[in-house]
Amino acid sequence: MPGARDAAATKDAAGRRLRLHTTAYMCERCGARQEYHHYVGRTPRYCPDCRAERDAERAEADRAAARERSRRRRMLIKEDQVEREAVAPPTF
Ligand SMILES: [Zn+2]
Repeated sequence: MPGARDAAATKDAAGRRLRLHTTAYMCERCGARQEYHHYVGRTPRYCPDCRAERDAERAEADRAAARERSRRRRMLIKEDQVEREAVAPPTF
């Protein structure tokens, strides 16, 4: 169970002591002021709620894109078949 002492002693892969930073930021979506506790890394752009919402929207957009891709693929296959039938040598 990690306590405050453990957190203070956290080290990275190179053995450097990592300091827990507290960064204040504004959510780009709802404008809420958030505080973010982190050792390393970038400041997030959204508050946790908005991040979850955005992830859900992104997943939905991905699904829509996948649907569109398979629709196009089916259309291309269809066109390809039509073309092949068009250039097929006549059979007597
Ligand atoms: Zn937000």
